[in-house]
Amino acid sequence: MIPLFKVPMSDEAPAAVAEVVGSGQIGQGAKVAEFEQALAARIGNPRVVTVNSATSGLHLALHMAAGGAGGADPGEGEVLSTPLTMEATNWAILANRLRIRWVDIDPATLNVDLDDLAAKIGPRTRAIMVVHFAGYPVDLDRLAAILDEAESRLGFRPVVIEDCAHAWGAAYRGRPIGTHGNVSVFSFQAIKHLTTGDGGALALPGDELYRRATLLRWFGIDRTADRLRNPPDVPEWGYKFHMTDINASIGLANLAKADDVLARHRDNAAFYDRELAGVPGLELTERAADRLSSFWIYPMKVEDRDGFMKRMDDAGIMASNVHERNDLHTCVRDYRAELPGLDGVARRVVCVPVGWWVTDEQRAFIADTIKAGW
Ligand SMILES: *Cc1c(COP(=O)(O)O)cnc(C)c1O
Repeated sequence: MIPLFKVPMSDEAPAAVAEVVGSGQIGQGAKVAEFEQALAARIGNPRVVTVNSATSGLHLALHMAAGGAGGADPGEGEVLSTPLTMEATNWAILANRLRIRWVDIDPATLNVDLDDLAAKIGPRTRAIMVVHFAGYPVDLDRLAAILDEAESRLGFRPVVIEDCAHAWGAAYRGRPIGTHGNVSVFSFQAIKHLTTGDGGALALPGDELYRRATLLRWFGIDRTADRLRNPPDVPEWGYKFHMTDINASIGLANLAKADDVLARHRDNAAFYDRELAGVPGLELTERAADRLSSFWIYPMKVEDRDGFMKRMDDAGIMASNVHERNDLHTCVRDYRAELPGLDGVARRVVCVPVGWWVTDEQRAFIADTIKAGW
């Protein structure tokens, strides 16, 4: 079976981990700081704060944007969000005791429909959660213009949180994702482009948010203070979301190879774009010239998805929609909404293997199998 996912682990990682494990310093220390500097350099944003997962990062981002000390009563607040994502995106909203308001999906991109989003921003909107689905960037300039308009209408500007779990290395209008003025949250979970085992990072748009995130990922306690002789006060309580040196050492080893991993995802995707254009019963997603996808997955829209998946399975090719729509789960039944764009694509989305492990022969075999029909 040609897998849909595989863990990208550098040959250097075991020795790097062994060094940390034997060093007597395995918690958050020098390796975490080194990893954050390396991430900041690669993303092009100096304000990077690592955490123990993207889920924690999203939770912390929402806590800072909309919940917790000083904010309005979170029970009243709404977060506009996409239903087509990993549940982690949306359960972070529930964990902050905020309400979800679903935004419809743009069938062309599988990202949020920005017209629907603009129409739904209102006085209760505390934050906006977007996902760069498959690593294809949301139109961030248009989103900023929508926020400008909302701000002049409402008198406040909801925080935009970008779930960049698929989008390591993606770029919008020539600049990497993580540098567009929003709170960006990356995942270094096992099967993402860059893994630390489990882990994540926030790339922040300002110094105050950076300072707060640095404190709140570890109980709100200032780790740079002399904690034994002069214990610092905790003005705002925080979580236990920090990364460890063990995970950071895995991340540093894998970061050295991450651009090669990314390049191979893109090369395989470009091959499919050429081979699959015009195949009957199959529609590719949008490719705008101002966006560089990271192609964590390669989503398409197909007629008779069950038949397609059966055909792929028979040929030894793993195919899946990867993420189920989130809005139909029982735990979010209170937030059900009409989502015609999502209804139109949810049963057609399917992904085929595109990652760094897919060889030239395998991708040709996958394209030929699809072209032969299902
Ligand atoms: C993987 C993923 C997450 C969760 O990341 P973790 O690091 O496992 O917490 C969140 N959102 C999306 C879209 C993901 O694919």
